[in-house]
Amino acid sequence: MEQKTMKALVYHGPGEISLDDVPVPHIQKPTDVILKVTLSAICGSDVHIIEGHTPVKPPKIVGHEFCGEVVEIGSAVKKLKVGNKVAVSCIAYCGECYYCKNNNHVHCIGSDAACFGTQGNLDGAQAEYIRLPYAENYSYIIPEGMTEEDVLFVGDILSTGYYAAKKANIKPGDTIVVIGTGPVGMCAMETAKLFGPAKIIAVNRNQERLNYALECGIADIGLNPKKVDVVEEVRKLTDGHGADCVIEAMGIEQTFTTAIEAVKVGGTVSTVGVYSQPFLLQMQNYWMKNLTLNWGFVTVEHIPALIKLIQGGKINTKYLITHKAPLNDIVKGYDVFKNRKENCIKWLITPYER
Ligand SMILES: [Zn+2]
Ligand SMILES: [Zn+2]
Repeated sequence: MEQKTMKALVYHGPGEISLDDVPVPHIQKPTDVILKVTLSAICGSDVHIIEGHTPVKPPKIVGHEFCGEVVEIGSAVKKLKVGNKVAVSCIAYCGECYYCKNNNHVHCIGSDAACFGTQGNLDGAQAEYIRLPYAENYSYIIPEGMTEEDVLFVGDILSTGYYAAKKANIKPGDTIVVIGTGPVGMCAMETAKLFGPAKIIAVNRNQERLNYALECGIADIGLNPKKVDVVEEVRKLTDGHGADCVIEAMGIEQTFTTAIEAVKVGGTVSTVGVYSQPFLLQMQNYWMKNLTLNWGFVTVEHIPALIKLIQGGKINTKYLITHKAPLNDIVKGYDVFKNRKENCIKWLITPYER
């Protein structure tokens, strides 16, 4: 590649980010691919990093939600060709180890394995180019007729939402509650529909976001904890029993407790919130509920299925895209996204404009 330096959003320590000139990545191993990032997004996890809540060693290029065009391939790359446009998992993994073989890719022990732009050695995607180690394990050619916007979220938030919905054990006719109507909560509602719930109740303190979930048609009822007692309202809507399943997508004590209290006896709570603070749980109040608790970090094995579901018109996440601007404006993007200005749900980043 002729270009020697590129623009990238670099984390320099808590509260410190800047758009810097950094070296363009190059092929290091035969299974590597270099991708020109054609579309990426800012994620809530990126905000956790830049605010110093997720321990990441600076300097680090941030960003793990992205699509791109293959511009260079290593000698062992067989299926991907220069010019292919691909959707990519947020986690790079070897595909060979015990954890990969059991679909726990985030625990992959490969030397180059990591979630892009967080802990570990890999730089992120809020840049002009990115190096993908073990690229063929998790890069999916975007099908003819589909755009980057169609598939951008499959590698992270849509996989997370789907994981949450799948782990909620939703059965046809169920009433489910989704706590948190941010991007992941919205993806959980979108994919929960695949399992046939009769009613989806969205919960959020932010009334605009609640209204938006209703407007987008992914929730049937909205409950705002600032206005109503959520647990009581859920009981009223379920003949006094509680919800069949509750998906928790916030990751704080209050929402976790609400999830446990709003679910019926014998129901399922599925939580994908990123918990940054410890808390006490009054187990004596809950153990007799005989509930199932599922939790965890996104697994990325469903990306091909999610792409097919989008292609088939069964799921759609385009309503998450509220903002889009070139890499030049990314620092402003963080401010708008982080502070939820202009009702921002997702800030998308297009290539740097010279
Ligand atoms: Zn993310
Ligand atoms: Zn592995």
